[in-house]
Amino acid sequence: QKAEWAKLVNEKTFSSDSVQVELAANIGTPADVKGVLENGAEGVGLYRTEFLYMGRDQLPTEEEQFKAYSEVLEKMEGKPVVIRTLDIGGDKELPYLNLPKELNPFLGFRAIRLCLEEQEIFRTQLRALLRASQYGNLKIMFPMIATLGEFRAAKEILLEEKEKLVAEGIEVSESIEVGIMVEIPSTAVMADTFAKEVDFFSIGTNDLIQYTMAADRMNEQVSYLYQPYNPAILRLVKMVIDAAHKEGKWAGMCGEMAGDPIAIPILLGLGLDEFSMSATSVLPARSQILGLSKEKISAHMDEILQMETMEDVVKFAEENF
Ligand code: PEP
Ligand code: MG
Repeated sequence: QKAEWAKLVNEKTFSSDSVQVELAANIGTPADVKGVLENGAEGVGLYRTEFLYMGRDQLPTEEEQFKAYSEVLEKMEGKPVVIRTLDIGGDKELPYLNLPKELNPFLGFRAIRLCLEEQEIFRTQLRALLRASQYGNLKIMFPMIATLGEFRAAKEILLEEKEKLVAEGIEVSESIEVGIMVEIPSTAVMADTFAKEVDFFSIGTNDLIQYTMAADRMNEQVSYLYQPYNPAILRLVKMVIDAAHKEGKWAGMCGEMAGDPIAIPILLGLGLDEFSMSATSVLPARSQILGLSKEKISAHMDEILQMETMEDVVKFAEENF
């Protein structure tokens, strides 16, 4: 099997009926790019930048960030690289920010909420990203977007920083896509509205499942509720993909579900354009997709979405795909 997979390293990803999708990888540091390329990923679908901020006692400078982002973009040689702005809070704390302790950190002051409030932190990161943009194919993604207002505010700040840089004579790419993570149910429900303004969606199922099922993703005792194949989740995923396509945008997924062999056929059937997963899952996923007919799976989609339970979905997927 390993030898079969190795043959696919330099291939694109097609289903048996020739529908193309993109298989990308999730990274946390520039050093991870090596594994991305060795495992044949077609891009980086999620660069979790918070690791630049963690395990130290002060914020990373614009220069440090510029170095990290441009290194990733350069090494990816023009392949798409989705860099997510700071997603701190929840399970990821930054002690040196001295933020007040919260009762519900997962529902609290985190990610884009923090960035829109602590704007110097956000602007520094955006400047570093914009400066790095000319080294490759950069796409900027905002995490934990719950309202259109948050997206507009974040994009406005991005455009302000871009104008400042251009005024200073610094080159910035003119083709940076700006998208959002869909990991809060309100945003999935409103995807048709968001799709008119964003360039892309990336579905963050790790959080989307947690928030939809009201089950802490870290809590063993409620892990039975953590159900990627629950029809409720699948319906939300479908809403997001359909909304994107209606506006001519692309929809990806960067939560763990994107690399899950049981979920992959269903996601292909729903029309997902980009699957971003851990690098080591890319070749197995490419090999699996080669053997799947998108058209055949799509024909079962309505039936799957009408199922009553996660167990029904899993049983059907295992027997039919
Ligand atoms: C997600 O929520 O699915 C996601 C990819 O982000 P993180 O796991 O970093 O919260
Ligand atoms: Mg998340």
